[in-house]
Amino acid sequence: MAKLDIYQFPTRSDNYGVLIHDPETGATAAIDAPEAEPILAALADKGWRLTDILITHHHADHTAGIDALKKKTGCTVYGPAREAGLIPGLDVEVKEGDTVAVGHADARVIETPGHTRGHVSYYFPDDEAVFVGDTLFSVGCGKLLEGDAPTMWHSLSKLAALPPETNVYCGHEYTNANCRFALTIEPENQALQARAAQVAENAAKGAPSLPTTIGQELATNPFLRASSPAIQARLGMEGQPPEAVFGEVRARKDRF
Ligand SMILES: [Zn+2]
Repeated sequence: MAKLDIYQFPTRSDNYGVLIHDPETGATAAIDAPEAEPILAALADKGWRLTDILITHHHADHTAGIDALKKKTGCTVYGPAREAGLIPGLDVEVKEGDTVAVGHADARVIETPGHTRGHVSYYFPDDEAVFVGDTLFSVGCGKLLEGDAPTMWHSLSKLAALPPETNVYCGHEYTNANCRFALTIEPENQALQARAAQVAENAAKGAPSLPTTIGQELATNPFLRASSPAIQARLGMEGQPPEAVFGEVRARKDRF
């Protein structure tokens, strides 16, 4: 069975649009709909026809393009049941464990609340890809706008448990700034130092830092490393539960 083609492109000020395409059936899904025009342009570039949109959460910078894309293509819109009233144009409500098919490829829905109350991620195990919206960023994580630290820690832990080779597609390009913060939390982490240098070099060329991988994030992302003795020592939180350490890292990032 052919693998999905995955095409990522920048949109709005720092969002990413992503199209996933099953070459056997022609099915094509957009991950979120930040705005219609760049998505339609990407579809035209590729010669693909939009069949589905998979929405991660209700924020406007992930949903603003739904209406125009639906009118233009007649696509079907999937999104979190827990945010159904907040997502105009939603056709199919999804929850933990549901399967969403894009052509021959099946995505498993993983509920990842914290940034918003109903945020979901879409995991394609056969294609080793997960689309995480604003839950996990490279070397960062989403702000806790509608959830508390234990809720977000639980969501991040579900993503962290995916196979390390899984490619992670995030909603925003924040990695360069995230690395600057992460180095204040774990300055001795050599994997983080190397990632920061690579990301700064990419940023200078305008090259994306994404997708990342679960393995790379486990090695570098302070929000996934709340169990690290070095981080706990730096925060004066030795032996404390990881969700508490995570909450402190998140609070520091909010003030950074
Ligand atoms: Zn958001």
